[in-house]
Amino acid sequence: MGDAAGLLVNSGITLRGMDMAIASGMAAAEAVKYAMGKGDFSKKTLSHYEYLLKNDFVLADMRTFKRSPAFLQNTRLYSLYPELACKLFHRLAVVKGPKKRLFDELLEETKGKRVQMVWDLIRGLRSM
Ligand SMILES: Cc1cc2nc3c(=O)[nH]c(=O)nc-3n(C[C@H](O)[C@H](O)[C@H](O)COP(=O)(O)OP(=O)(O)OC[C@H]3O[C@@H](n4cnc5c(N)ncnc54)[C@H](O)[C@@H]3O)c2cc1C
Repeated sequence: MGDAAGLLVNSGITLRGMDMAIASGMAAAEAVKYAMGKGDFSKKTLSHYEYLLKNDFVLADMRTFKRSPAFLQNTRLYSLYPELACKLFHRLAVVKGPKKRLFDELLEETKGKRVQMVWDLIRGLRSM
């Protein structure tokens, strides 16, 4: 159940473990109640737990967001993109003299990186 069973979803936007812990705890209690009712604690009867998880949001969400952990290991998320945001802000708000439009600054700052950035965006949209 819960974290001990690895039931945690970090989509990059939300970190969800409490709802998973509660729902999987409830499923475990239901499975024990079911086994007690039958007087049978065999592997087959206790697999009712897995059945309950499969028919709730828990395993469905684990499947939906299965790409998120790999996406979140992309180090560019913690270096390139925050640095880019800071550089753009610096150019637009701090540097003296004539200013360029945001789009032109963006084109200049992302020179040689755009293909990689488009792939990052696609991977992000597919994992979150
Ligand atoms: C920084 C951070 C932010 C988070 N934010 C969110 C959020 O916003 N929303 C969300 O849904 N989830 C969030 N989570 C995840 C969420 O906290 C966990 O997924 C959730 O608490 C898991 O519940 P659990 O009961 O499985 O485990 P736990 O809450 O870890 O409970 C396990 C308990 O067992 C105790 N224990 C361990 N070993 C023993 C032992 N041998 N004997 C007796 N007791 C023992 C521990 O002390 C602990 O109290 C966050 C987690 C972190 C770290």
